[in-house]
Amino acid sequence: MKTKTVYLGLGSNIEQPYLQIKNAIRALNDLPGTTVIDDSGYYKSRPMGPQDQPDYVNAVVELATDMSASDLLQQCQSIERQQGRIKKRHWGERSIDLDILLYADQQISRDDLQVPHPGICLRDFVYMPLLKLAPDIEIPGKGRLTICVESAKTDNADFACVYAGKIE
Ligand code: AMP
Repeated sequence: MKTKTVYLGLGSNIEQPYLQIKNAIRALNDLPGTTVIDDSGYYKSRPMGPQDQPDYVNAVVELATDMSASDLLQQCQSIERQQGRIKKRHWGERSIDLDILLYADQQISRDDLQVPHPGICLRDFVYMPLLKLAPDIEIPGKGRLTICVESAKTDNADFACVYAGKIE
């Protein structure tokens, strides 16, 4: 299979979030036919759902992979399980969350997989790290990410996302 460029979003807010993100990136780089090309660095943001939970640490990574989108989703879920993913409630605290944001220029609409990820233009903890990696990126079916973010801004919640350093 031809190598695809893929962007993944990562988030964690319990069980040493910085380490969780770093370990997940290492695990992604170890997947068959997959290389982590670049990462956004750490970002910190306020929780999107219930407010009685710790702040989140987020990052976006760019991968080159031979895996299909379905296989990659399974592998992401496997990494979540390996890192002892705890998810207590909807939009609640979690040790690690991996989302496929973009898979090459594909649009996928299935029960188990939505690509582009529907939150890309709405969540600053997704689009800020993604724009850092790829300022001119186009979202299949929506156009330029910068334009998409601007037009979504009226109903955009503010999660106060800030850069929080390099992933060493
Ligand atoms: P969450 O725990 O909130 O990340 O949601 C996980 C569920 O979202 C899983 O059942 C996935 O099958 C589904 N899902 C749909 N689209 C995506 C995507 N682009 N990346 C990761 N999970 C997805």
